[in-house]
Amino acid sequence: MKYLSEFRDPHIAEALAKEIADIAKGLQPIRLMEVCGTHTMAIHRYGIRNLLPENITLVSGPGCPVCVTPNEYLDRAFAYAELPDVTICTFGDMLRVPGSYTSLEAEKAIGADIRIVYSPLDALEIAQDNPQKKIIFLAVGFETTVPTIAAVLHQAKSQGISNFFVSVAHKTMPMALTALVEDGKIGLNGFILPAHVSAIIGSEPYTFLSEKYNQACVVTGFEPLDVLMGILMLVKQIKHSEQKVEIQYSRVVNEKGNIKAQQLIEKVFQPCNSEWRGIGNIQQSGLCLRKEFANFDANTNFEVKVAPPKENPACICGHVLKGLKSPVDCKLFAKVCTPESPVGACMDSSEGTCAAYFKYARK
Ligand code: SF4
Repeated sequence: MKYLSEFRDPHIAEALAKEIADIAKGLQPIRLMEVCGTHTMAIHRYGIRNLLPENITLVSGPGCPVCVTPNEYLDRAFAYAELPDVTICTFGDMLRVPGSYTSLEAEKAIGADIRIVYSPLDALEIAQDNPQKKIIFLAVGFETTVPTIAAVLHQAKSQGISNFFVSVAHKTMPMALTALVEDGKIGLNGFILPAHVSAIIGSEPYTFLSEKYNQACVVTGFEPLDVLMGILMLVKQIKHSEQKVEIQYSRVVNEKGNIKAQQLIEKVFQPCNSEWRGIGNIQQSGLCLRKEFANFDANTNFEVKVAPPKENPACICGHVLKGLKSPVDCKLFAKVCTPESPVGACMDSSEGTCAAYFKYARK
């Protein structure tokens, strides 16, 4: 298949759905988790759940980087925004995420210098154009976004730029999946593995999921036929008890990933423990700056006082991120909490599970 329309062919979708149902017939209930916000959106947008037999359940996991970023990080960013001569640069999806006490949007409304950028390079240019200011870029994201930020930090170092900083909350996917399967409460049979992340890291880092935890795994693309083919491959693995890591999205992903991007990441970042909203601290699931790049680290170069983080007790975003609850289980969903007025990060982010349910599955 070459063209986008071919990946949305309803007749092929129907045939795939029938094949999935035929193979799944008589099997024990199957629970599959997607761990990428774009998959969450695609599954809702194309009504994939409605095409599956009753014994296959799709659950959403921690696939949205903004959603898994804890309040503690956000609260620090708000504190940076209050410092004199500091400009905060961020991707737009961070703007309205509620922290413990406020949001970047609210801080901007009362005068903080907070700018939306489309690339960390934009933030670096702002630093170059405003040498009297200190520019802090909020580096939030999975492996997909890290290479660009690594490249920009390289550039900043080679140009001797001293007023550019990053507040790093990068997370890596494989260790988070370990934490989910070891938790054991979710009862998963397999993973629809992320496409963008896997384009960078390849499919090999997931092999422990099948070998150690007996999970069926398929790296899957985002079009409806991609998702259905991915599910078909998973169900076949489960039926034949042949758990392994396969690649459905072979037009983009291979086993080894993007070696150049990995080398770039390796030069700038090193693995460290990281706090995930809802899941807690996961060992070696984050990326921190290497000491050669410590001059760019906002967390060590700016001293701020931050009150202990707190969560809205009614928001069950943490449970939603672990696949233990659905957004519709939340009593605030679509009543108090909406994309216009998000109570939790899972509703604010365009890739959040609550936002996906609000847009496509409210009724
Ligand atoms: Fe939190 Fe809103 Fe989702 Fe409820 S609907 S879990 S309040 S983000």
